[in-house]
Order: sequence, then structure tokens, then C-alpha cells
Amino acid sequence: MMEFKHITVIGAGTMGNGIAHVFAQSGYEVVLMDLAQEALDKGVATITRNLDRMIAKERISETDKTETLARISVQTDLEKAVSKADLVVEAATENAKIKLGIFEKMDAHAPAHAILATNTSSISITEIAAVTQRPEQVIGMHFMNPVPIMKLVEVIRGYNTSDAVTQATMALSKDLGKVPTEVNDYPGFVANRILMPMINEAIETLYNGVAGVSEIDTVMKLGMAHPMGPLQLADFIGLDVCLSILEVMYDGFKNPKYAPCPLLVNMVRAGKFGVKSGEGFYDYSESRKAEKVSAQFS
Ligand code: NAD
Repeated sequence: MMEFKHITVIGAGTMGNGIAHVFAQSGYEVVLMDLAQEALDKGVATITRNLDRMIAKERISETDKTETLARISVQTDLEKAVSKADLVVEAATENAKIKLGIFEKMDAHAPAHAILATNTSSISITEIAAVTQRPEQVIGMHFMNPVPIMKLVEVIRGYNTSDAVTQATMALSKDLGKVPTEVNDYPGFVANRILMPMINEAIETLYNGVAGVSEIDTVMKLGMAHPMGPLQLADFIGLDVCLSILEVMYDGFKNPKYAPCPLLVNMVRAGKFGVKSGEGFYDYSESRKAEKVSAQFS
């Protein structure tokens, strides 16, 4: 069995700090790496805030918090960050050029036994693995947002990923208290291949004037028992992210059923990205909850 002690997480943004948090809380030594100290400070502040929230809910103790934070060190140098790693989880910006560059460097500087995992939402694991000399040790570990709360890890096997590496990654995910699910490497994997066409169809339904924003979300919430309507979920994920995942699937399958709705394309061009930009299908200027439909659609 492969032994994991030292985990390196590349990228301290939304996903990276969550991934570092869950590994450290489960007893692993974590190095969190980002390009600038400011991003690392922000990442550690988020982890601290989330641990405080867990203390308030009496799910962990003050000692758990102190010990978890003590297991996390930070680093701005990639070479140093991966030098002792048994596993690296890359959670940097969703951009193929950035990720391929990181994997080339990680491959050159991480120990030979290290597994190199990526948290990508849509980029091909096989393509990423091809820039390394160890494609059998490259795998997708697709955590969901927010990482400390969401149970699923979609474990994605690249074309060359070995059985041993897949089994070790599944076992490690279980050790974090997560539920790993093994899938193969095709555009959108499973999660986004099913989710994104649903979101796209909801946008198409709005675009065709079949119903309004809150009517569409209400049908899916109350009729299908979804905790959030698809338009609200799209705003939460980020409309730019939804568009880029749909484009990866459209390019990858060459099938028009994945073509992004022109309304989604227009909204992204207009800078309406959802919660993070303050407006998408809903207006978030007063609250981050989807309470007010954007003036564009009301
Ligand atoms: P983010 O923008 O919040 O964070 C990305 C971080 O990567 C930034 O802090 C940035 O400084 C850093 N970074 C960029 N280039 C780097 C480099 N060369 N070396 C080190 N750090 C670098 O992004 P995010 O939402 O955390 O997404 C990260 C990854 O997780 C993406 O691949 C994304 O597709 C995936 N993902 C995101 C979500 C989500 O809901 N946000 C869900 C699942 C998967």
C-alpha cells in the first residue's frame, strides 16, 4: 500500500484552501503553495474562519483547530513546495497552459513515488499526464465546493493512470471522510457532463421565454427536490466557469447538444458572472442569497 504523509496543495484560492483544510484536519502534513504571499495569507485566513465556524457548531475543539493550523505551512516556491510530497493536489486557475506548466515543473521536482493529482473541472487528465514522465501516476481528484462540507470526490482515471494509483487515491479520499467515485477521463467527466447541460437548458428555457428566472428555479427546487434552482446554481458556480466547461464539452465531443446558449455567452461578455461579480440571473448587490431577480429579467 502507498503511504501518504506529506501533501502539497498548489493554489490557495476557493478550492485550494478547502483541500488543504481537509487534509490537515485529517492529520496530514500540508504545504500550501501559491504565487504570492498575499494569496497564501488569504487562504490561511479562510481556513481559520472555517475552523472557527466548526468550533461554534461544536464539531471540533480549540485544540483540533490549533493542531490543524500547525500542520499547514505555506510556500511561494513550487520546487521547494513539492520536494517532500507523497501527493500533490493541483488546484490552480482553470487554464490549460497554466496547469501544463505546473505539471511539467512538479514532475521535475517531486519525489519519483509522488502521485500528481489535479482538481480541474474540465481539462483532460490524459492531456495533463502527457507532459509528465509519470502518466500512470497522474489522476483527477475533483473536490466539490465548499470542500470541507461536500462529500463527493470524483476520482478521474486518465488513459494511463494505473490501478494502484487509482486505488490509493480512492482510499485516501475515504480517509478524509469523503465518498470517492471512480470515473473515466472524457470531457466533463460525470459531474459536469450531466450538470452543465441541465444548467444550459434552464438558460435556453429562459432565453425562449418559456418562463421567468424564479419560475424556472421554483419548478426545479419544488418539483425535483433540488436544493437550489439551476439558474441560482449557475450564478453560484460562476457563469464564466459554466461557459468554459460547456465549451470544453462542445469542442471535445463535437456535438451541438453541448453548444452554450447565446444568452449565457452574452452575459459573460457583459461581465455578468453571477455571485462573484454581483449580478447574474439574480442581483447580489444587497445580499449573496438569490432573493432578487436581476433587473434584466424582471
Ligand atoms: P481560484 O481562482 O479561487 O484560485 C486559483 C488560485 O491559483 C489563485 O490563488 C492563483 O493565485 C493560483 N495560481 C494561479 N497560477 C498559479 C501557479 N502557476 N502556481 C500556483 N498557484 C497559482 O480558483 P478555484 O475556484 O479555487 O479553482 C481552482 C481549480 O479547482 C480549477 O481547476 C477549477 O476548475 C477547480 N474547481 C473549482 C470549483 C469551484 O466551485 N470553484 C469546483 C471544483 C473544481
